[in-house]
Amino acid sequence: MKKFFLILLVAQSAHLNGAPDDFETGGSSKALFFFNKRFGEVIAMKTGGPYEFEGRLIEGVAEASNEFKEMVKEAQEVYQIPPEQRLPVYQAQLEDTTSGKAEPDAIYLNESLTMKPYGAQRFTVYHEVAHTQHCDVARDALRLLGSLAVGGIVLVKNFPDGLLSTVVVSSYGALLCTLLHQRFAVFAQYKDERRADEQAAKACKCFECLKEKSAIRSSTTKGGYLTKDELLAIAQRHEGNNLLCEYHRSGRKR
Ligand SMILES: [Zn+2]
Ligand SMILES: [Zn+2]
Repeated sequence: MKKFFLILLVAQSAHLNGAPDDFETGGSSKALFFFNKRFGEVIAMKTGGPYEFEGRLIEGVAEASNEFKEMVKEAQEVYQIPPEQRLPVYQAQLEDTTSGKAEPDAIYLNESLTMKPYGAQRFTVYHEVAHTQHCDVARDALRLLGSLAVGGIVLVKNFPDGLLSTVVVSSYGALLCTLLHQRFAVFAQYKDERRADEQAAKACKCFECLKEKSAIRSSTTKGGYLTKDELLAIAQRHEGNNLLCEYHRSGRKR
């Protein structure tokens, strides 16, 4: 049993370290990706998440427009995600502040995203695809297991005699699990969001897209997301290299 907990703990620490920041070499290995994906699906079904994870569409979820499908495909190609790891994209009604969500089975884009400037739409797509490259959603579940493992080790190591000490040690173990998970979750989410934003900003290779995104981005750091100024700094580098996406290059208006 102790060995099992230790293995989980090691798996979880490996996940906390995350993948390299360079999207060209980043991403999880094939085996790890599929383990994460399957694991994420099981957890999602068990916890009854808001979406149907069997690959079927549910009410309120519709096929994404061809434009979004193309954008997702472009990002998947830029990130060099192998075809068998590419997730489909659906349009859904998410909470207002959420532009998109990367789930184990698919990428969901909020219907309200279509109201935002083109650059913000494209950035969101690149951000969500970056999450799927690392299967971040399943890694959250692994972190939870890791925290449980630490609590479990405490229990096993101090396996008590008598009712009172059982209650004390169990409560301590449970409290430790909860605290650890909270810490891991906050830290890991911060790291995941920052990485997804950094990848998106670099990989979208368009200063106009980044300017449009930065116009609706907060100036203060929140949850790991890049700030307005951080986005603009990357936009400036892209501008120096005269990098524009096809849409902005052709100067089309929507
Ligand atoms: Zn994100
Ligand atoms: Zn652009």
